[in-house]
Amino acid sequence: MADGDVDLAAAARELVAEAARFAGFGWMRATSGNLSVVLGRHPLRLAVTASGGDKGELAAGDIVLVDSAGRLLPSPGAGPATAGESPSRPAARPSAEAALHARLVAATGAGAVVHLHTLASVRAAGRHPGGLELAGLEMLKALGRPADGPATRLPVIQNSQDMAVLGDAALATLEPAVPALLVAGHGLYAWGEDLRSARRHAEAVDWLCALVTDG
Ligand SMILES: [Zn+2]
Repeated sequence: MADGDVDLAAAARELVAEAARFAGFGWMRATSGNLSVVLGRHPLRLAVTASGGDKGELAAGDIVLVDSAGRLLPSPGAGPATAGESPSRPAARPSAEAALHARLVAATGAGAVVHLHTLASVRAAGRHPGGLELAGLEMLKALGRPADGPATRLPVIQNSQDMAVLGDAALATLEPAVPALLVAGHGLYAWGEDLRSARRHAEAVDWLCALVTDG
């Protein structure tokens, strides 16, 4: 492990706890969404929640290691694939969305990404397909943006089942000073230097989305 790399076991503990927290918010309904932490950058490696599991009931074995394309890598120290596995429990694998996590951290330098199918983000993206213009709101400070002054634009991209198309759209619309984007009909991505920071950004984005769609 190179200097600065994050230990997979420590990242797994953090991701399991965070997924349970978000599930408690009702933000990871029906196994949706995924969270990731950067473990190393040269080459890029991320720990990411596996596809399919109830995000309120994850265990360390539900956190997988992926590369810069979101492809599954063998987890160090995992041992033989069959060791300790329940025959009724399929091997954990990453969501296709892990590829977008990898592209976002490569483009922004972020250390963690959260992807959530929150109702407010879907509603806001549907109502503002060209992006949200936000100003005069104290909550913008949670995104590192001024509460007053010029408006902050929260990008909205169209959804796609093709992760290359979705990734290209995301990178083409990134606002350098805004650590989040919305995907129409889908949800939100937020990122930060670590998982705690990404959580703060996701909470702020969801709050702002609720604000512009309520009433
Ligand atoms: Zn999704």
